[in-house]
Amino acid sequence: MTNINIQNANKAYSKGGPLAVADLSLDIPSSEFLCLLGPSGCGKSTTLRMIAGLENLTSGQIQIGDRVVDATEDGIFVPAEKRNLGMVFQNYALWPHMSIQENIEFGLKIKKVAAAERRVIVEKVLKTLGIYQFKDRYPSEVSGGQQQRVALARMIAISPDVILLDEPLSNLDAKLRLDMRAELKRIHTELGSTFIFVTHDQWEAMTLATTIAVMNEGRLQQVGPPTDIYDRPANRFVAEFVGTLPINILERSDLDSNKVLDDWIKTIWAGASHDGAKVGSVGIRPETIELFAQGLAVPDTLEGCPAKVMDLVPTGGNWIVELNIEGTRLFALKRQVDDLAVGACIKMAISLRDLHIFDTCGDRITA
Ligand code: ADP
Repeated sequence: MTNINIQNANKAYSKGGPLAVADLSLDIPSSEFLCLLGPSGCGKSTTLRMIAGLENLTSGQIQIGDRVVDATEDGIFVPAEKRNLGMVFQNYALWPHMSIQENIEFGLKIKKVAAAERRVIVEKVLKTLGIYQFKDRYPSEVSGGQQQRVALARMIAISPDVILLDEPLSNLDAKLRLDMRAELKRIHTELGSTFIFVTHDQWEAMTLATTIAVMNEGRLQQVGPPTDIYDRPANRFVAEFVGTLPINILERSDLDSNKVLDDWIKTIWAGASHDGAKVGSVGIRPETIELFAQGLAVPDTLEGCPAKVMDLVPTGGNWIVELNIEGTRLFALKRQVDDLAVGACIKMAISLRDLHIFDTCGDRITA
């Protein structure tokens, strides 16, 4: 069981150059499935590569289990091959001249595992990943998804304490991604190793992770279980980055110029303690908006706001409902819209817990 602790890690690729990772502190408990999530260039791969020992820190410290593996100030740097990590990258370079079985066995040979034991391990991982029937083929003789399984099998075979995955599913088509996602979850449960998975795909992170660490511009934005990241985004960046349909953002200027919306939000928020904090913007997720067609009463527990339906857009399964509130546009997401029509004047409502209020710096104010 291996935890990872990162303390105040900084990484600049050139002396005095910009920080690819800035003041990162992160505690990853043993057996966690942590997803590093963020847009391209935010420092996810650099973080992973620092844990792997493929990059050294500019300053700060990384500890894996009870061993400090990188502490620049103390002159400590444990090379990648001595960290007992398994890695799978987007380009899962398999040895083309080795059969699948030989590819998997290779790491065990390097570790000088005896032949009889190697056979047992290889057979087990081939079966675990459902590629036993392909064991004598070469990588070029199996599909992309199967090659990806071989890369995973090769990594699992050496029983790493920590498994590092850098966008391992991004070369696969949608259906295979779904299959491999389920497979990864199963492998994680089975092995109990600590997994760190890099992705820019918020849906992948939401569905895989036990914990998500959201990064932006080299800095950690929020760490928590997927539901917290989604339901309680720490700031506007997280709120806008996570969510299949983007969160509605009402700027301060929208509220200042729209009394109906402003009064509605103030009424909902009135019950919460906010110590006079200065509101910069308000976020409302489309799927949390309840709609009440003409003639339907808004329950006493909710505050209704008049809105006009501008458009109903099918997305296959759900409908995007475009609403206009005195000139401000909001989107709602609904499973069915039988009682709604374009042009109808309806009421919308949300619960206080679904109101995300951010200050002028973009940090969350609401509890
Ligand atoms: P991500 O994985 O989130 O896409 P990276 O960790 O790859 O982000 O990159 C973070 C920043 O570091 C980016 O600005 C990128 O251009 C820079 N960077 C990454 N690798 C190198 C490198 N080898 N040399 C110089 N700059 C790099």
